[in-house]
Amino acid sequence: MKCEKCFKPVHTCPDCKGQTATSLLGDRLTCSTCRSTGSLCSEHGGHWKR
Ligand SMILES: [Zn+2]
Ligand SMILES: [Zn+2]
Repeated sequence: MKCEKCFKPVHTCPDCKGQTATSLLGDRLTCSTCRSTGSLCSEHGGHWKR
């Protein structure tokens, strides 16, 4: 996956492990680090999606 703003490859969010971590209810975690995208751009962080 690539950042939609700078087209650099995004990397897996370390906080939610790319949205593979789940809450007690089995839902996806709401991750403020990556805005629940599961990925991070080194420049734009979780704001790599348009
Ligand atoms: Zn970017
Ligand atoms: Zn995250």
